[in-house]
Amino acid sequence: MKDKIAVITGAGQGIGAAIARRLAREGAKLVLVDINEDCLKDIATELECDLLAVAADISKKDQVFAMIEQAKDHFGTVDILVNNAGIIRDGFLAKISEENWDKVLEVNLKGPFLCCQAVFETMKAQNSGKIVNIVSRAWLGNIGQSNYSASKGGLVSLTRTLALELARFQINVNAVAPGLIETPMTRSMPEEARARLLRMQPTGKMGTVDDIAAAVAFLSSGDATFITGQVIHVDGGKSCGLLSL
Ligand code: NAP
Repeated sequence: MKDKIAVITGAGQGIGAAIARRLAREGAKLVLVDINEDCLKDIATELECDLLAVAADISKKDQVFAMIEQAKDHFGTVDILVNNAGIIRDGFLAKISEENWDKVLEVNLKGPFLCCQAVFETMKAQNSGKIVNIVSRAWLGNIGQSNYSASKGGLVSLTRTLALELARFQINVNAVAPGLIETPMTRSMPEEARARLLRMQPTGKMGTVDDIAAAVAFLSSGDATFITGQVIHVDGGKSCGLLSL
């Protein structure tokens, strides 16, 4: 991955920041993207690799295309795209407002679609590219997360379809599905919900952001060149079925 140019969305904190640290260690040059300028500044200051930090909302087409143009002006190309930024607005069916349905679908599904569109011509021209979409084990279904689960299920379908469309250009498109990972997102959940999720966890503990970063590093590397359209669940076994105690 030495000197590869990697765009990481939602890189300011949590899983995205861990992916940035890991790819920096592997020798990549980074384009860090986040809507939250404060945490974006913090991670850009912390990392000592060659990087560009861009504040952008990935659900807005003009901002996404401008961000990729900035990345190309600065580094010349884009080799790796990690679609990591995502949000939750949880609730049972009757409680999810239209606004919270639209917002989650806009950020979690339309955002990655726009980012893929924005990097496509560049990756096609160089006849290589790696796209890794961060989905969630919740794409298989999760009570209280119909908007989030639908967005991540849609992102799995987008991953598989783009894998077929882009394979002829040697562009790999894969997904990583984290289980319960300790991040600001999960820390914002009500304690009762976190405890319930932990009880259903085969390992009995949450995963770490580094567990996800390791899977992303593999899928972004030359070792994964013949792997495309796949979803790697990094969830301590939770996607294997119900845990009966
Ligand atoms: P996080 O701690 O909330 O970090 C996500 C970052 O993305 C935040 O800095 C956030 O800014 C930023 N962001 C939100 N909306 C954005 C937008 N429209 N444009 C650009 N940046 C935006 O989340 P995380 O837990 O690290 O999760 C990262 C990814 O993993 C997400 O796709 C999530 O769905 C997925 N995931 C997480 C878990 C888990 O257990 N943590 C499990 C499964 C899947 P703000 O802080 O301003 O919102």
